[in-house]
Amino acid sequence: MTKLYIDPDLCIGCGACTYVCSPNALLKVDEKGVRKIIFDTKKCTECQDCEKICPTNAFKRKANDVQILKFELVKCSKCGKPTEFTYKQADKALNTLLKKSFKESIRDTLLLCNDCKRELVKENLLRSLRITEKRLLVEIV
Ligand code: SF4
Ligand code: SF4
Ligand SMILES: [Zn+2]
Repeated sequence: MTKLYIDPDLCIGCGACTYVCSPNALLKVDEKGVRKIIFDTKKCTECQDCEKICPTNAFKRKANDVQILKFELVKCSKCGKPTEFTYKQADKALNTLLKKSFKESIRDTLLLCNDCKRELVKENLLRSLRITEKRLLVEIV
């Protein structure tokens, strides 16, 4: 019987398919800066939900039992810790953003880990609070 398999050239390791697979035939494991997408076709019920959600149409048909795809996770541009994104995911996202001509600054924010993103949000918030404070002082005086 032909079974689903993931074309490693097309898969960007986003993990979307793992969230919709109810029998857990698809799993996402992030460990030591590497993401694994594990596909155990024995558990697959052929519901096709993964095919529908995959942003790159990576699901193809072929006889295969277990598949493990490995992706290096993007290292945070600030602290070097692994982020939530694979390099292929980031490339795809950046290409889409660039097409929509978003600012270059988005690239730096996108390539930060969650901790550094939180820090950045805090810094920006504090900065805008300080500006508001200064404006208020000027208005009062
Ligand atoms: S077809 Fe359905 S059961 Fe099979 S891997 Fe995709 S989501 Fe999971
Ligand atoms: S949804 Fe598609 S691109 Fe994302 S991990 Fe699954 S197979 Fe790969
Ligand atoms: Zn970081």
